[in-house]
Amino acid sequence: MKICGDYHMHTPLCGHAVGLPSEYAERAVEVGLKEIGFSDHAPLIPHPDPKITMSFEQLPFYHAMIEDVRARFKKLKIKIGIEADFLPGFEHETKKILDTYPYDFVLGSVHFIGKWGFDNPSERAGWNAQDINRVYRDYHELLRQSAKSKLFDVMAHVDLVKKFGNRPTEDITEEVRQTAKAFKESGVVIEINTSGLRKPVKEIYPSLRDLQIYCEYSVPLTFGSDAHDSLHVGKDFDKGFALAKKAGYKEYVIFKKRKIEKVIKL
Ligand code: ZN
Ligand code: FE
Ligand code: FE
Repeated sequence: MKICGDYHMHTPLCGHAVGLPSEYAERAVEVGLKEIGFSDHAPLIPHPDPKITMSFEQLPFYHAMIEDVRARFKKLKIKIGIEADFLPGFEHETKKILDTYPYDFVLGSVHFIGKWGFDNPSERAGWNAQDINRVYRDYHELLRQSAKSKLFDVMAHVDLVKKFGNRPTEDITEEVRQTAKAFKESGVVIEINTSGLRKPVKEIYPSLRDLQIYCEYSVPLTFGSDAHDSLHVGKDFDKGFALAKKAGYKEYVIFKKRKIEKVIKL
């Protein structure tokens, strides 16, 4: 495998992932990765839920746990990241959480439109009451606000709204272009997230069409499996790699201390 970094991996601290970080690291070695980065769910400020994210009190343990694996797996580079929600109106509190401990990278995610967790299986019925075109537009507006907030380094799964297979009937290309432009201007990176292949949509995030637009705007790229189980580590990276090339990407990046450490040829 050519891709060396899987930057999207969870731990049981978020309440919905299984397996110890050491098992994820073992799996990474097994599938031939040279580098991984943990990025568990950061505390949700307005509506904490132990089944969705870590709590603020768990953060020191999260760091200690990753430091421990790092010390034991000398052949594997292990970075520490975190996946934080973009919650409009809570930017200040989010920044405080992200500034409390050092990270190699911060993934920014839009999982909520207002209070609606649109990708949460238990809130899937919420789609029935929605205008899908509107959801896509609102989602993109939140992506742009996330980038402009300067809270994040990498925007995660940038077309997560398609998770359950709900598709817009209008052409939203212009929305994606605006988002790509905002990402470029804010200096955020995107990820190819292979977990979509394991979801009802059965497609990598983002789609080839969207990825071509991000490539056109020169938005750099990382890779992530969004592993919630050690068996997901590096999963379908061959497909992700092929998609990146097809979209026109020639390289991807890895992070250290919240800066691009290296640009690597695909
Ligand atoms: Zn999760
Ligand atoms: Fe996510
Ligand atoms: Fe995730």
